[in-house]
Amino acid sequence: MSAIQTVARDGIDHGSTRGYYQHRARKVLPSCQPCRDAYNAANRAKRAEAQRWNRGLVGPPAPPRPVPTGRECPADGCGELTSMPQPSTGMVAVSWPGSREPDRWYCAGACATYGRALAEVRAIEVGRG
Ligand SMILES: [Zn+2]
Ligand SMILES: [Zn+2]
Repeated sequence: MSAIQTVARDGIDHGSTRGYYQHRARKVLPSCQPCRDAYNAANRAKRAEAQRWNRGLVGPPAPPRPVPTGRECPADGCGELTSMPQPSTGMVAVSWPGSREPDRWYCAGACATYGRALAEVRAIEVGRG
């Protein structure tokens, strides 16, 4: 029995990511090409997956749009977060205690009613969860 035979029968899953890690764990280095290929392929797949989650964009996730309220309103600043200055004098700040929905500016009237309903629904969701 030579030492070389023991190394050859190393029990490593060559050609797989597992094999790649086994190379490292057992210090059988450098890893063989099939193991490196498998590892690189897996890494590429992981990156592609991350990009899918990010809607195909590379880089950090985009911040949420300021108006994900689902309501179309032509008024400038309607649905804007109240961390922004009041968009216009007719706008009212809508907040709902315990809601995941942040405080927003809405036109007084239908938009504010809608905003309140939206905030209320999201507060109920919090209660359920
Ligand atoms: Zn290998
Ligand atoms: Zn509005």
